[in-house]
Amino acid sequence: MPRPHAVISGASIAGLSAAWWLARTGWRVTVVERAPEFRDGGQNVDVRGVAREVLERMGLFDAVKARNTTETGTVLVDAEGRVTAELPSEGTDGATAELEVLRGDLARVILDALPEGVETIYGETIEEIDDSSTRPAAMRGDESSRSHPEPFDDSSADGADRPLALTTDAGRTLRADLLVVAEGVRSRTRDHLLGDAVDARDLGVTMAFGTIPRTPADDDRWRWHNAVGGRQIHLRPDPYGTTRAILSFTDDRDTAELELPEALARLRERYAGAGWESERVLAGFEASDDVYIDHLTQIRMPRWHRGRTVLLGDAAWCVTPMGGAGASLALTGGYVLAASLARAAAEAEAASETRAASEVQSASGAGKETGAGAQAASGTESNTAVKPETVADPADDVVPAPLPADLGPAFESFEEWMRPLVDQVQSLPKGLIRFAYPRTRTGLRLRGLADKVLLSAAFRPVVRRMTRLAQSERPLPELPASAAR
Ligand SMILES: Cc1cc2nc3c(=O)[nH]c(=O)nc-3n(C[C@H](O)[C@H](O)[C@H](O)COP(=O)(O)OP(=O)(O)OC[C@H]3O[C@@H](n4cnc5c(N)ncnc54)[C@H](O)[C@@H]3O)c2cc1C
Repeated sequence: MPRPHAVISGASIAGLSAAWWLARTGWRVTVVERAPEFRDGGQNVDVRGVAREVLERMGLFDAVKARNTTETGTVLVDAEGRVTAELPSEGTDGATAELEVLRGDLARVILDALPEGVETIYGETIEEIDDSSTRPAAMRGDESSRSHPEPFDDSSADGADRPLALTTDAGRTLRADLLVVAEGVRSRTRDHLLGDAVDARDLGVTMAFGTIPRTPADDDRWRWHNAVGGRQIHLRPDPYGTTRAILSFTDDRDTAELELPEALARLRERYAGAGWESERVLAGFEASDDVYIDHLTQIRMPRWHRGRTVLLGDAAWCVTPMGGAGASLALTGGYVLAASLARAAAEAEAASETRAASEVQSASGAGKETGAGAQAASGTESNTAVKPETVADPADDVVPAPLPADLGPAFESFEEWMRPLVDQVQSLPKGLIRFAYPRTRTGLRLRGLADKVLLSAAFRPVVRRMTRLAQSERPLPELPASAAR
């Protein structure tokens, strides 16, 4: 049965959150993922602030909590592994948050809960995008399609009336009303469509993540060691009896661009003499099959949409692990996007009903309302022609309002709600990187003293505030009654 069709590129936290919420608000959804199968990998991320409420609304809070990494706190350790300071982790959003989970586990929980009917295509990527809504009519050679006549009309076998034609590298063509690009920080589709608007800020930090065997000395805390030369070593528990390790260091070179053997050789060179558990981590990475290296780059953009395409998650606003809260923003963004689209549709429908009612009224003479006019004014019967039909999926009884021809206002409401949250996480305190990655022995000693002050009882509330990310005083936009279940 006809429903608006959204294609989502990228099956991780942002793409799957959008898939879940769009399907729940009446969309037909197809997710296209470049990887040949679902990507289970990834390291410790957390769900904080307003994202906790999104997860609650999805009914997935307990499922995510059940996959907790088991981490109980965060400590700084010296070269002998002795704890020198402990970061505040009490409450829900501390350095170790209540919801600590592996990226792949969080994505898997959403994947498993996707409403029936969401289609997922693995091993393909969108190569060509033909958006008839952004082309001048002359180029389309079709006057009648100047304003998209029936966004919901999927009556033709191939959905040819839909304004977007997306062709994958396998030659598959998907006709759609909306494209959501959730391809992560290095998104190719984003660069192709909105590349000139991308302000990619190199933070000068590289992080290498991997899974290594657990040893009896590994406990349930996140242990964090600073070594001289701008190098950090992190060890964190996971729920699978292994240990998640991170080597994080300042470097102007992009190690993530190298083939894995060369990247590992560079890590060895960079961590020579770093001490603590660095040898064990390097050996573990060399034997591991899930090493992931990222040269941290913030993505800043003045707008996140073009035509009927919208960017979501790291593709739009990568905050990097230095900002934290990337997973929380991705999760929240999926909800806010679906709510903004549903609200715009409900508002457009209400406006068109009001217009229709006043047209009927003026045609039949003021004060002489006919039965048909009364029906139009109350939004029943007479407007069924412009309403989408009830969705086919028995699990999904939402009858959404018709999609407006111009999605711009919906995308703008989405951006308006998300931007303050993103700005909050992206604005790193000045000098943070120099503070976090001391280069000299003196710098390291000063950093140790600063930690003692910052983590003293007097300053703990300040530090606690710094871990309260992705918080918003504004309530989440509500779904209109027509889209809520
Ligand atoms: C395997 C992996 C491991 C990660 N590990 C960590 C980590 O340890 N610590 C951390 O802080 N952050 C990590 N991240 C990033 C972090 O998870 C993000 O901040 C957060 O997940 C934001 O989610 P996202 O959905 O926007 O992007 P991502 O999680 O990056 O997901 C993007 C998805 O899009 C897919 N994709 C990319 N290009 C295309 C394309 N052209 N066509 C179709 N699909 C495409 C990718 O395969 C991926 O599934 C990791 C991401 C991945 C994919």
